[in-house]
Amino acid sequence: MTPNPIRKVLIVGGGTAGWMTAAALAKVLDAKGVAVTLVESDAIATVGVGEATIPPITTFNQILGIDEAEFMRATKGSFKLAIEFRDWLRPGHRYLHPFGNFGLDIEALKFHQFWLRAHHEGWAAPIDDFNLPATAANLGKFALPSKDPGQVMSSLKYAFHFDAGLYARYLRAHAEKRGVTRVEGKVASVQQHGETGFVTGVTLEGGQGLEADLFVDCTGFRALLIEQTLKTGFEDWGHWLANDRAVALQCEMGGDGLTPVTRATAHEAGWIWRIPLQHRIGTGYVYSSKHISDEDALKTLQGALDGKPTQDPNFIKFRPGRRKQIWNKNVVAIGLSSGFLEPLESTSIHMIQAGITKLLALFPDKGFDPVEIAEYNRLTILQVELIRDFIILHFHANRRDEPYWKALREMEIPPDLKRKIDLFRASGRLFQSDYDLFAEPSWIAVLLGQGVMPQRHDPLVDQYDEAFVRTQMARLSALIQQTGRAMPSHEDFIARYCAAPEFVR
Ligand code: FAD
Repeated sequence: MTPNPIRKVLIVGGGTAGWMTAAALAKVLDAKGVAVTLVESDAIATVGVGEATIPPITTFNQILGIDEAEFMRATKGSFKLAIEFRDWLRPGHRYLHPFGNFGLDIEALKFHQFWLRAHHEGWAAPIDDFNLPATAANLGKFALPSKDPGQVMSSLKYAFHFDAGLYARYLRAHAEKRGVTRVEGKVASVQQHGETGFVTGVTLEGGQGLEADLFVDCTGFRALLIEQTLKTGFEDWGHWLANDRAVALQCEMGGDGLTPVTRATAHEAGWIWRIPLQHRIGTGYVYSSKHISDEDALKTLQGALDGKPTQDPNFIKFRPGRRKQIWNKNVVAIGLSSGFLEPLESTSIHMIQAGITKLLALFPDKGFDPVEIAEYNRLTILQVELIRDFIILHFHANRRDEPYWKALREMEIPPDLKRKIDLFRASGRLFQSDYDLFAEPSWIAVLLGQGVMPQRHDPLVDQYDEAFVRTQMARLSALIQQTGRAMPSHEDFIARYCAAPEFVR
């Protein structure tokens, strides 16, 4: 028995980060005598965006015991199989970053090396033909994966698009049902221990005080505890990631309709996202304020809408980077308070999930062992820096002409990323770093998509007879095509499985 167990946790902030944390802590700490309280203020809006996710969120939902169809209905959600990049390499170019693997390795040799050989010999089919989520995405299809590893359908990986506000509301109901206490009010002041500087409590505007042993800062960009109170410091990555603004809008369903992809379209000074939900499309322009004015960014976004706007534009300022420590004293920052990487690869909600998982794995007692806090920070920083490099790759490897894109192409990039690109460009070799969220297939999709074509392939694949390789590859792509074609359309699947009353066909 720990002599000094944590008895009270206070989560400050009730956006996606706050309610994901509350729901997970309620599930895991429930029986251990730990009281979880969340304080949020109706007077301070949540960021109001953050609607595209990546596959690990399905595990988060399973751990919470969430019924997927009910969750999708409640959040008016749709399914996501890939990110579609338009105009990134150059205007008119398109590629997918799909979830899941490309092909099957042959006798421990990587599939993509066989594909590179075919490419160098001039007979390769598009690489998407060897990935089921990409094939289904190109056909506008969706179905749930098979649990039988012998079936091609078992290789289907997916994530969700959902309404950010409804997601927080859904998790709130889930968390409150499991014992989380919600307090409404704006935190006006924070109290600290005179000697240690540990946070001891917060006082709300009305005078109510809330005390706890462990504090989770989910106050978004305000970073009320981790920065305003503890002055933790920030590492700025603006020299690699030029974008510092976004303007977000929602519009009526239109254009290509309910596609099972998040679309990211490159523009003169940034990129525009398109996230289709059951009843509307979420969209926004992420841009560099040095290269375009707010007014012109809004005009560009309005010109790209698929339907009539249904809300006023929401301008958001941000600074790419991370807190110097994500866990400082007895405060753990989760969500936007911990730092921010732009939403190009939909990684922020995942980083919330990863923060919660690590907090549970290193759950402290009142001694707050510095060794464990240091490990939390080491792992989080390692992971976020790998994601940062993956995002930089998209911007750096481009052949566009505008000054914004030219500057990104010519900038000096982090040395680890440069080494990865050089190695891949030479002969398609890749080695996944420990703790990299993005596995080899993701790097392959984006490196090839951004025009980093290896000059050679692994010489070991040349030992195989060409006819054998051709037959294997043709069989595989035919099987994937056949499986993709047999799936229902994304719209039909949603209509049958999880349609909300507002679902628009
Ligand atoms: P917020 O939503 O800002 O919530 C902060 C909370 O703190 C609010 O409840 C507020 O009331 C409360 N609060 C603040 N101060 C006080 C106070 N003094 N007293 C009491 N309460 C207080 N992520 C993805 O994974 N996918 C995406 O597609 C994606 N798109 C994005 C697009 C943009 C343009 C941006 C900026 C972000 C995007 N993100 C995305 C990130 C995602 O939006 C966030 O990670 C997520 O919403 C979590 O936000 P949060 O809960 O940390 O902060």
